[in-house]
Amino acid sequence: APDETPQIVIDAHGLPYLNAKLPVKTRVADLLSRMSLAEKAGQMTQAERGAVGTGGDIAAYALGSLLSGGGSTPTPNTPEAWAKMIDAFQLRAQATRFQIPLIYGVDAVHGHNNLVGATVMPHNIGLGATRDPRLAQRTGAVTAAEVRATGVPWDFAPCLCVTRDERWGRSYESFGEDPALVDSMETIIQGLQGAANGRDLKDDDKVLATAKHFVGDGGTAYGSSTTGTYTIDQGVTTVTRQQLEAVHLAPYRTAVDRGVGTVMPSYSSLDVIGDGQGPVKMHARGDMINGVLKGRMGFDGFVISDWDGINQIPGDYTSDVRISVNAGVDMVMAPYAYRTFRTALIAETEAGRVSEARIDDAVSRILTQKFRLGLFEKPYADTSGAAKIGSAEHRAVARQAAAESQVLLKNAGGVLPLKKSQKVYVAGSNADDIGNQTGGWTVTWQGASGDIVPGTTILEGLRDAGGDVTYSKDASAPTTGYDVGVVVVGETPYAEGVGDVGNGHDLELSAADKAAVDKVCAAMKCAVLIVSGRPQLIGDRLGAIDALVASWLPGTEGAGVADVLYGRRPFTGQLPVTWPRSEAQLPINVGDATYDPQFPYGWGLTTLTRVPEGGATALKALAVAAAVAERTGADEAGRALVTKARLIVQQRPVTAASAKPFAEADHLLLTGRYGKAVESLLAAYRAT
Ligand code: BGC
Repeated sequence: APDETPQIVIDAHGLPYLNAKLPVKTRVADLLSRMSLAEKAGQMTQAERGAVGTGGDIAAYALGSLLSGGGSTPTPNTPEAWAKMIDAFQLRAQATRFQIPLIYGVDAVHGHNNLVGATVMPHNIGLGATRDPRLAQRTGAVTAAEVRATGVPWDFAPCLCVTRDERWGRSYESFGEDPALVDSMETIIQGLQGAANGRDLKDDDKVLATAKHFVGDGGTAYGSSTTGTYTIDQGVTTVTRQQLEAVHLAPYRTAVDRGVGTVMPSYSSLDVIGDGQGPVKMHARGDMINGVLKGRMGFDGFVISDWDGINQIPGDYTSDVRISVNAGVDMVMAPYAYRTFRTALIAETEAGRVSEARIDDAVSRILTQKFRLGLFEKPYADTSGAAKIGSAEHRAVARQAAAESQVLLKNAGGVLPLKKSQKVYVAGSNADDIGNQTGGWTVTWQGASGDIVPGTTILEGLRDAGGDVTYSKDASAPTTGYDVGVVVVGETPYAEGVGDVGNGHDLELSAADKAAVDKVCAAMKCAVLIVSGRPQLIGDRLGAIDALVASWLPGTEGAGVADVLYGRRPFTGQLPVTWPRSEAQLPINVGDATYDPQFPYGWGLTTLTRVPEGGATALKALAVAAAVAERTGADEAGRALVTKARLIVQQRPVTAASAKPFAEADHLLLTGRYGKAVESLLAAYRAT
């Protein structure tokens, strides 16, 4: 129960800040000038919806924000129930002096994944494999439309982590190991927010985005723990100043340029070699949050802490509050500790240890985004877009993303694409499991195996495609009489912590998966699909496998995977991360001095057998091959090819004339390793 019983008198009527015609800056200044310290501290506080009951504390403490943490869903978990729940909380916020609307946030990190029935996209690692920025933007737009239609205006996405070591359990949330790739996928921010002109956010199908986790979350080191040594989620990132800038900070420059509304600091610590600070928790790094993000990069949105992220700063809670707010954190996600946080913040400010100027700056930033979102004019859910949630139109985008994310690593004898005339024997733990296919952050926080959301599994996709398919999960059914096997193996879901290698997870396939692969591949030609958030070790088994596909975590539309397997779409995906031979090689990243992976960064065969009209897809594949050549040190002709391929790919439609120097070389990607393909490509190019 609230410890203060407020006498609410609505003071808001007719005040300047309510006038939508005034500039946001003027409205913010007007409102801020009227607020008490307690009200300001309330704006800086975010509570978990499960902690506030029916929401009495929202008015009592003038809370600025609520969240649904992963799996914190209403019952029933329907769009209507979400909207009703959020409106009821908003009603409480409207019963405060200035009727400042709440801003409600969720982790919609691959579609509106907390909601049963939503369109679930491939996780970011799969989007990185598509190399398709326009598609990334479209997935963002679908996500935003579905999220906003349930009354939620704020999404804690995208993760801009640059994963440098696949033993890190959140690698699947990364677009890839190369900052340039992460950068190119940041079109997703436009998909979520609309163009960065400050107006689009008011559209009723857009949400505020969050670039996370600032900074270096993908670079945490193989360190020690009580259970052994492994790369730890929430661990320490040790880098030179130059690595920090080039690898981890680079994506934030782009995010700020694209007008991202909020940034979330990382749970990890940052240790910049030579700066004399040693490892310091990111929530305490004022040099990075105030200095680099807000200062040098000019970020003008607000900084939201991670879930109890300030608690990991050494010292007691009061000092955590002081240090983090002074470091530039504007709103603290204090899910269950929201009263303690608010009280401590008020006390520290009254004692002069947090300045009033810092508080005013934080609150101005928060209010600015609320005005930008149009929440003062339209605080309640607009569910007019709800009919589109999980619609055929939205699923088509997810299906395309699933298809484009498939990376064909090996295709001996042209086993893929499958032919309708073939008898197909499907096996493996992940062939018919939509929970495994969607991964973490799906309905519940860590995700779960089994039939947790509507959609199609890969098996169902194959059947719907009209294939002559027999399914035996453990490959116990007789293998005689089949033309080709499709064995779908890989990981089971996890979101945070539990996926760390050394914490019960390694990159080995399970014994059952290995047995299924061995049995089927010994009996017939086989394609092995790996459904996982990161590479799994194949080792010598590769020799017995005819075709190998990295399927990542494709989401609810297994039909998209079936599309490429049956050749309805070509394979065009490229590895977003290096595929190692062994765990001993990790960390391994393109550009390393001793780079000898099983499949290099950027690798991916295509099943295109002829250049389609205009050749755009083939050109895209070629551009990536050329980019690989560039990265692995091709000569000047190689770089010229890169430039030309990029220019041509950017022109749409591609004309037959512009496609010519590349068209004939398309088939080269079907054979051999990238080195060979690119070599021939360069030869072909020089000959023109
Ligand atoms: C995660 C964040 C997430 C937050 C809120 C944390 O545990 O690290 O990525 O946004 O929870 O659910």
